[in-house]
Amino acid sequence: MMDEEGFSEWYHRMLDENQVVDIRFPVKGMPVYRGAGVKIIKYMRDYLENLLEEDGHEPTYFPVVIPEDLLAAEAEHIAGFEDEVYWVTHSGITPLERRMALRPTSETCMYPMFALWTRTHTDLPIKIHQSVCVYRYETKHTRPLIRSREIMWNEGHTAFATREEALENIETIKKIYTKLMTELLCLPIEINQRPDWDKFPGAEYTIAFETLMPDGKTLQIGTIHNLGQHFSKVFNIQYEDANGEKKLAWQTSYGPGFGRLLAATISVHGDEKGMRLPPAVAPTQTVIVPIVFKETDRENVMSFIGKVEEILKSQRIRYTIDAGDERPGAKYYKWEQRGVPLRIEVGPKDVEKKHVMLVRRDTGEKTTATLENLDVGKMLSDIQKNMREQAKKKFEERTYTAKDEKNLDKHLGEGIVATGWCMEDQCAKPIESKGTILSINRDKKAKCVICGAEGVEIKVAKTY
Ligand code: ZN
Repeated sequence: MMDEEGFSEWYHRMLDENQVVDIRFPVKGMPVYRGAGVKIIKYMRDYLENLLEEDGHEPTYFPVVIPEDLLAAEAEHIAGFEDEVYWVTHSGITPLERRMALRPTSETCMYPMFALWTRTHTDLPIKIHQSVCVYRYETKHTRPLIRSREIMWNEGHTAFATREEALENIETIKKIYTKLMTELLCLPIEINQRPDWDKFPGAEYTIAFETLMPDGKTLQIGTIHNLGQHFSKVFNIQYEDANGEKKLAWQTSYGPGFGRLLAATISVHGDEKGMRLPPAVAPTQTVIVPIVFKETDRENVMSFIGKVEEILKSQRIRYTIDAGDERPGAKYYKWEQRGVPLRIEVGPKDVEKKHVMLVRRDTGEKTTATLENLDVGKMLSDIQKNMREQAKKKFEERTYTAKDEKNLDKHLGEGIVATGWCMEDQCAKPIESKGTILSINRDKKAKCVICGAEGVEIKVAKTY
C-alpha cells in the first residue's frame, strides 16, 4: 500500500526510466509508447487474439472514421459520447459535407455493415474483433496509460439469432478475459455488473473487470456490454428465421484496454526496487550478468556463458547479456528496476564449479544450478505462479466490510468495501460522493450504511 502521491511519483518514474512510455509528446493524453511498453502490449494482444479466434471470432479492420449520422443514430449512445468526440470537419480548407468522428468505440461504425451481412439465420452468428486505437477527448485529468485520449484496445462485436446465445457469449468472454488478466498478467480481479446509471450508453447492462492499484483505487481494465436489441433495431440487423419470419439480432460488445492492462501489470506487481514483470509478458525474461574483475578471467567467463546461452535458446527464453562496463551492483539494480524475472550471474568461481548463480526477482532467492540442471523455463513458470499468488493475497487483504459510515470512510481509499444501501436516491448521493458504487447485489441483504434501513449489499471503491 502506497499513498496517492508516493504511488504517482513511483508510477511516472517507472514509465520513464524503464522506457515504457514518454509523456513529453506535445499533445496531452497522447504519450509515445516505447520499446518495453509496446512489447508487453504485443504479448497480451497476441494471447487475447488467439483465444478469441479459437472461439470463432474473425479478425477485422474497420475505418477509423464514423459519419455523423451513423454515430448519432442511437440516441443514448451519442448522448453518452458527444462531449468526447473528435471531429474531422475539413478536407484541406474545404468543409466536409458531413462531419466524421474519430471512432470513440465502433458499434455505430460496424453495425450498418452487420445489417448488410445478415440475411438469413445461417448468416449468424457474427463474431468479430479488432485491435485498434479509439479516440476520446477526456475532460478529466489525463494520466499515462490510465486515462488517455488515444486508447489502444481490442474490441469484440457480435450478433446472434437468440438472446440465449448472446448470454452464452458473455460467459465465454468472461472466461477469456479472466484468463488474459489472471493467467497471463497475474492480476487479481473482480467482475461486477455496473449499476444502471453507470452502464455503457445504449447497453442493457455492463459487466466490468476491476483490479486494485497500490494506492487503494480500483482500475477498470475491461468491460462487456449486453446490447440486447437496441442497436439491431436502429441499424436494422434482421434475419429470416427457419419459418421465413423476420427477426432482430441480439448483440454484445466488449473490450479490454491494453494501456490500462499495462498500467495495472506494472503497478500491481511493482515494489520498492521497481517493476516486477510476470515472465509471460517480460520483454527480457532472463538477464545474464558476467562478473569479471580481472581481465584474465573474461575469456573463461564468456565462453561458459556461451554454453548457458545455448541452453536458453533451446528453451526459447527471451534473454539478454549485460557485458557492459558498469559494476555488477549497478547492473543488478538496473535490471531489477526493469522487472526482469530472473538474473543469471556467472563469475570465475562459478565457472570453476561448473554452475551458475540464479536470482529470482519475485522473492530475491538465490540458488545455483549446473548446466545439466538449468531449467529456466521451469523457474519462470514458478515465478509466474508465485507472482499470481502474491498479488491475489494482497488483493484479498484489501477487501473490507463496513457496517457504518465511519468504517466506510476509513476503508475507502484502501481497497474495495462491501456495505449496504437502501436503494433510495437520497442515500446513493452521499455514498457516491465518497466513492463509486461498483456493483449492487440484490440477492444479499445488508443495512444501509447511511440511514440504517434494510437494503442490499453494494461494493464501493475509489476509482480511477
Ligand atoms: Zn439509506
